[in-house]
Amino acid sequence: MDFIQQKDLTGLNAMGLVSYAKNYVSLCNKKELKGISGLLEKGAPYFVLGGGSNVVLDKQIDQIVVHNQLKGVKLLQETTSHWLIEAAAGEVWHDFVLNCIRRGWYGLENLALIPGTVGASPVQNIGAYGVELQNRLDSVVAYDPINQQEIVFTNAQCRFSYRDSYFKHEGKGLIITAVRFLLPKQWEPVLSYPDLHNHPDLQQQVTAQAIFNAVCEIRQRKLPDPKVTGNAGSFFKNPIVSAQQYRELKARFPALVAYEQPENSYKLAAGWLIDQCGWKGRQLGNAGVHARQALVIINAGNACASDIVAIANAIKNDVLQKFGVLLEQEPVFVRN
Ligand SMILES: Cc1cc2nc3c(=O)[nH]c(=O)nc-3n(C[C@H](O)[C@H](O)[C@H](O)COP(=O)(O)OP(=O)(O)OC[C@H]3O[C@@H](n4cnc5c(N)ncnc54)[C@H](O)[C@@H]3O)c2cc1C
Repeated sequence: MDFIQQKDLTGLNAMGLVSYAKNYVSLCNKKELKGISGLLEKGAPYFVLGGGSNVVLDKQIDQIVVHNQLKGVKLLQETTSHWLIEAAAGEVWHDFVLNCIRRGWYGLENLALIPGTVGASPVQNIGAYGVELQNRLDSVVAYDPINQQEIVFTNAQCRFSYRDSYFKHEGKGLIITAVRFLLPKQWEPVLSYPDLHNHPDLQQQVTAQAIFNAVCEIRQRKLPDPKVTGNAGSFFKNPIVSAQQYRELKARFPALVAYEQPENSYKLAAGWLIDQCGWKGRQLGNAGVHARQALVIINAGNACASDIVAIANAIKNDVLQKFGVLLEQEPVFVRN
């Protein structure tokens, strides 16, 4: 097994940023893990790439890029109450969701059409339309290339929270090889989001397939397709503030959009904060803010990482000045 040198990653990231990897290796079979460990000499920095839909890649990446392309889906166990399904990390997330729906394994339909791979899904605990991965996950199978061992993490050990997990912190160097899902046979629709609750196709008979179709329809209507306009989805997390800070902001900005959270806190709609600072549809250098979605930063043409960093910093500054709230970006910056 050898590295490919100066691998062009421009087509392998959803933002379409011009980027080259000094050393790139693709992982297509679990048997290759030992060989990859050998290539990752002790201390050599490396980075695991999935579908590239939540990364901002530097122009030149000197870290070793390990591209996870492990494939396969299997039913591990069926009990009277649940299906336990294992999907390899390189499976395309949406194809996996579709595959589950077709086989009658329901529960992932609200997460349809999220770009990327199964292996990245636990990293930021993907979520949409009232469901988070942590609600459906049994365990994560990961490989530690330094100690050359496989580790299985239970749901609790993944330490999930809003767009966060163990794999973003202490578990950063692990290569996730498979994810296991526990889907209940007693299916319950999740229609808590107004977009779904009010959807014309979900007013009579609600099935998992109907929710899947509605989620796809809403997402296609609302979000820019990365194949047409480079973007990484929501660029900032919705900030969580204390009840006191929320009340102060609400008094100053009565139209503030916020959702009550447990533990006396509120989640603010980051898109609303950005929009109020006049960023919707604006461009800075080769990057811009989407004309309809203030939370989405786009590649306005030939952008590189520095353009994205510049506009992200300008937005963060403006939001901090106006609202006293610090935005935290969602995509991972991959630097040299
Ligand atoms: C248009 C658009 C819409 C989106 N909508 C949503 C949404 O609704 N909800 C949501 O939560 N996210 C959303 N995202 C973000 C993105 O889809 C998810 O974060 C997705 O899980 C990223 O998958 P990926 O394979 O592309 O990961 P990558 O972008 O390749 O990597 C992301 C991170 O995961 C790590 N990683 C990837 N694979 C592995 C692995 N096998 N082992 C260890 N680490 C790994 C990488 O090192 C990196 O830190 C959206 C993105 C886009 C472009």
